[in-house]
Amino acid sequence: MINLIDVYKIYGSGESEVRALDGISLEIEKGEFAAIVGQSGSGKSTCMNIIGCLDVPTRGTYIIDGNDVEGLSEDQLATLRNRTLGFIFQQYNLIQKIDIFENVELPLVYAGIPSYQRDEMVKEALTRMGLGDRIHHYPNQLSGGQQQRVSIARALVGKPQIILADEPTGALDTKTGLEIISFLRELNKEGHTVILITHDNSIAASADRIIRLLDGKIIYDSKFDAEDKSKDFIKSENKNDNVENASSEGGAMH
Ligand code: ADP
Ligand code: MG
Repeated sequence: MINLIDVYKIYGSGESEVRALDGISLEIEKGEFAAIVGQSGSGKSTCMNIIGCLDVPTRGTYIIDGNDVEGLSEDQLATLRNRTLGFIFQQYNLIQKIDIFENVELPLVYAGIPSYQRDEMVKEALTRMGLGDRIHHYPNQLSGGQQQRVSIARALVGKPQIILADEPTGALDTKTGLEIISFLRELNKEGHTVILITHDNSIAASADRIIRLLDGKIIYDSKFDAEDKSKDFIKSENKNDNVENASSEGGAMH
C-alpha cells in the first residue's frame, strides 16, 4: 500500500543543510494501524507530507497503491490524494467562513461527486461523528473536540483507503484526545489503513505498530498484537518528550 525506499528530504545546502528525512525505508500494508512517533523536529510531518503526496522526496522512491509518485503529474497527484487519502491535522484546518456541512462536503466537490449524492454522504459522516444535529453550525461555534470530529468526518466522507492524522490530539485535553483515537481505531477496524503521527508516546501506544523517528531516521519499528501489553513500555518513555505537550495543552478547548 505504502512503500518508501531510501527516501531523503533535504532542506538547504552546505553548512545549513537539514536532513528532515535521512534515508527512510518503510512499508505499510493495507489495513494497518501504525503510529509514527518522535520528538519535535524528528521528521514526522515531513514524512506525513510525503506519504500524503503533499510533498515529494529530494531523493529515493515512494510508491503508493502501486503508483510511483515520481512519474505522476500535479493533476494525477491531486487525484490520488483525493481518492486514496484522508487528512486530519492538529489544528483541524476547517474553513471558518462555511458551515461544517460545507466543510465536510468539500473533498466530495473536488472529487466531482454530484450534489444529490453528496448530501447523503455528508450527513452520514457527520451523524456518525455525533454531529448530526449541528450540521449547519460554523466551526467556531464548536469545541475543539467537536471540530476535530468534523475534520474526521471530512477525512472519511469519501471513504479513502488511507487516513493520515498528524498530531490529531495535540490541541485537545487527554480525555477528548482518547475519544479521537478511539474513532481512528474504529475506522481501522472497518478496513481503513490508519497512520497516526504523534510526539506523545502514550497516544502512539494505541496503535498496532510503532515506528520511531529520530533526526530523520527510523530508530525503531515494531508490530504488536492488540492484546500485547509489552508495548506499554512505550508509554513510560514520555518524560524526554514533552516539549510540544506543554505548549499545546494551554490551547485546548472543551
Ligand atoms: P516534526 O513534525 O517531527 O516536528 P518536521 O518534519 O516538521 O518534524 O521537521 C523535521 C526537520 O526539518 C526540522 O529540523 C525542521 O526544522 C526541518 N524542516 C521542516 N520543513 C522545513 C522547511 N520547509 N525548510 C527548512 N527546514 C525544514
Ligand atoms: Mg510535526
